[in-house]
Amino acid sequence: MKHIFPDYYNEFHCIADRCTITCCQEWKITVDDDTNRKWKKILPPDTISDKRKNLTAYTCKKDGARVIGLDQNHRCPFLSQDKLCHLVTSYGDSVLSETCTLFPREIHEFSTHTEASLMPCCPAVIDLWCEKNIEFPTVSSIVDHSSPMFLVRDNLIKLLQNSDLSIEEALFEGFYILLELYKNQPVTISQINEYFSKQTLFELHSALADINVPADDTFTECNELLQDLAVNYSKEGLYTGFLQPILTEAEKYPKGTFLPDKPDDRLTDSGTGSELSGIWNLFCDMITDHDIVFRNFLSNELFSDLIIPGSSSKIIEHMVMQYQWIIMEYTTIRQSLFLWCSIDPKNPLTYETVRNYIVIISRMTGYDDDDIRTYLENSFAKLIWDWGYAALIIGA
Ligand code: SF4
Repeated sequence: MKHIFPDYYNEFHCIADRCTITCCQEWKITVDDDTNRKWKKILPPDTISDKRKNLTAYTCKKDGARVIGLDQNHRCPFLSQDKLCHLVTSYGDSVLSETCTLFPREIHEFSTHTEASLMPCCPAVIDLWCEKNIEFPTVSSIVDHSSPMFLVRDNLIKLLQNSDLSIEEALFEGFYILLELYKNQPVTISQINEYFSKQTLFELHSALADINVPADDTFTECNELLQDLAVNYSKEGLYTGFLQPILTEAEKYPKGTFLPDKPDDRLTDSGTGSELSGIWNLFCDMITDHDIVFRNFLSNELFSDLIIPGSSSKIIEHMVMQYQWIIMEYTTIRQSLFLWCSIDPKNPLTYETVRNYIVIISRMTGYDDDDIRTYLENSFAKLIWDWGYAALIIGA
């Protein structure tokens, strides 16, 4: 069976004690049943001051899963002061749970092939995405059209990597096509080729360019999305250093205080609304410096999340659902960065800040399929959005 992965995959190395946002902190670290059985017979390493009867005694049940119980500073009890793992230094890698062994790798085994990629929840992964477009294997040629949805995914990735389109245009146009395919099931190869043909893409681009969503509406909706996603993390005191400043900033701006809609109005700089619109213009310039990271981040999310093993009967619905989640993830990262810039507009938007918020928001949105479904159904009354909602949060 073919084992395929993007070109950056083998370049990853955990930077351990040099990591700025270690995965051993402020996160749910699951312990699988096999590891737990093993851990019942293993004594804690001598280097740990909080001694318990075995390694299992450091775990607890959370949301139905066994996880490592974090200490009062939300750190893994096995994490040493110099950010190394006491378990690895005492017993070697083989003692680790499946999650700790695999992270940040994501592996999907299909009947035709196995796909591997890396998750954006790790700063060392983002560092691999800064310089050039990631090259993904063209999976549709490997599976030989046995599942047309791989061809859809290849085309969506290509669309995002097309630098003639802005990220927002590519995301929105991709969503529009995916929604059309969803409405016109069953999806066929000729239908896919037609939707992604040069001519159709050109016509779609011209038609969608006429849509104009008031920027104030986009700002308000993205603020609400961010606040909703962050509420539980804030309550638990997680990621406080990253979330607190931007959430405080978000609360300063109720609906109607953001951008004037006429382009000429954006040139004025008096009053809160115009002031914020000036910062928005500045922000739009600064964020384009990080275009390549965002395109790679989004393309990688499409590659790793749109198609997963076992989703075959409702595969197109799953793809639309995941695509929506990726749009939410991106718009929430963008909103976080904009709020961060509005705190002190004189601060440059550095790569490190961009990386921090990509890592934190992707950790916060790292839900499994069932949880994404429940979140979307509860928040939006129905699972699949109209294209208008995507236009609203992307900011068409
Ligand atoms: S987040 Fe990544 S680089 Fe940091 S400790 Fe975890 S695996 Fe290593």
